[in-house]
Amino acid sequence: MVKTSRIPGYHKLSVSERIDKLRELANLTEEDLELLRKAVPLPIDTADRMIENVVGILGIPLGIATNFVINKKEYLIPMAIEEPSVVAAASNAAKMTRAGGGIMAEATDPLMIAQIQLVNVPSPYTAKYVILSRKRELIDVANSTNPVLIKVGGGVRDVEVRVIESPAGPMVITHLIVDVRDAMGANTVNTMAEAVAPLIEKWTGGKVYLRILSNLADRRLVRAWTKVPKEALGGEDVVDGVVYAWAFAAGDPYRAATHNKGIMNGVIAVALATGQDTRALEAGAHAYAARNGRYEPLTVWEKDHDGNLVGYLEMPMAVGIIGGAVKVNPVAKLSLKILGVQTAKELAEIMGAVGLAQNLAALRALATEGIQKGHMKLHARQLAITAGATGEEVDLVVEEMLKRGEIRIDVAKEILESIRSKK
Ligand code: NAD
Repeated sequence: MVKTSRIPGYHKLSVSERIDKLRELANLTEEDLELLRKAVPLPIDTADRMIENVVGILGIPLGIATNFVINKKEYLIPMAIEEPSVVAAASNAAKMTRAGGGIMAEATDPLMIAQIQLVNVPSPYTAKYVILSRKRELIDVANSTNPVLIKVGGGVRDVEVRVIESPAGPMVITHLIVDVRDAMGANTVNTMAEAVAPLIEKWTGGKVYLRILSNLADRRLVRAWTKVPKEALGGEDVVDGVVYAWAFAAGDPYRAATHNKGIMNGVIAVALATGQDTRALEAGAHAYAARNGRYEPLTVWEKDHDGNLVGYLEMPMAVGIIGGAVKVNPVAKLSLKILGVQTAKELAEIMGAVGLAQNLAALRALATEGIQKGHMKLHARQLAITAGATGEEVDLVVEEMLKRGEIRIDVAKEILESIRSKK
């Protein structure tokens, strides 16, 4: 656990000063620091073992969001993302939630679902009955594929069978509900699904095709909650603005998509930093958002009796601290160390809290000054750098572009030339 996540002026430090501060707060070793300072922290040989046909490594900035208090604990949050202003917004919103005691979060047991698709059964409900009546045998066979998981307290918790109608006729879909403990669990449950498939075919006389997890991980949810004092937010008007912004998303899928994208800015940045399967998280989030037959926001914002803002998030969070890319990528390992997480459940709770804070930041900005002001400043910085500005030239070019109200690459180049010619 870090001593504090409150580091006033962290954004004003140089990269090297920020690393020093992080070392002090998160108890990092010399080796950890070296990794952060390396130009390419992932060895090419490791990359070559991770995917196929490797020719290089893509760099993504890794930042630290400050101010987070989650379940009464201080956290510094590593976020990997290419989009400007996400880390700043998360830190800013975390500061507001801090004024009300931070964010509370609770993840359910890590239950993943594996699906087994059975077709060509003349009497689907008989098949359903047969499979369910031999549930115990299925569970034993599935569990026998993974003694390590059983040893750490995981394994199949239940079997469910659904008969679905499809364009190719009725299908009998068996679900294995598996407690995957600290893993994301995809490989784990896929292996189980493959192991039990022959039994299902034998008992029913049907034909099994697909045996694969469902990314709609609706048994593995995180719930996060916060109360932001109205003063910390900027007054009751702003509370009303945020509630209206949420209600817009609740009433309109066009808005809800963008609302949820904002939540995923935070969730996916932490996911990338900690080596998670980001596509699995995106698929789960959006499928869950549409579970009622209409695409809805993953958060709710309301005003309490005293005029304070209350926020609630609920979404699937299939994350692991073991398996996948987590232990292969050295930076992902370091991110987990900075977070100090001991279980996948704790990581899920942190990610839910970050999603809620990120959403708060976006809604507050949208309901007040709009997000373009902050964005344009950051955009101007990127243009200045693209134009070739370095060191203090960057600030001078940005300042001049903002003053002129012209934020374009040609303007950045022209200003840079004029600065240099005056030197
Ligand atoms: P994994 O295959 O490395 O399995 C982790 C294993 O670690 C477990 O099966 C268990 O035997 C062992 N283990 C030891 N200690 C444990 C503990 N405390 N808790 C849990 N397990 C423990 O990893 P995985 O999580 O099963 O699979 C994740 C990978 O699968 C990701 O890389 C993901 O991208 C990939 N994947 C995803 C999909 C999808 O989302 N649709 C499909 C296929 C594969």
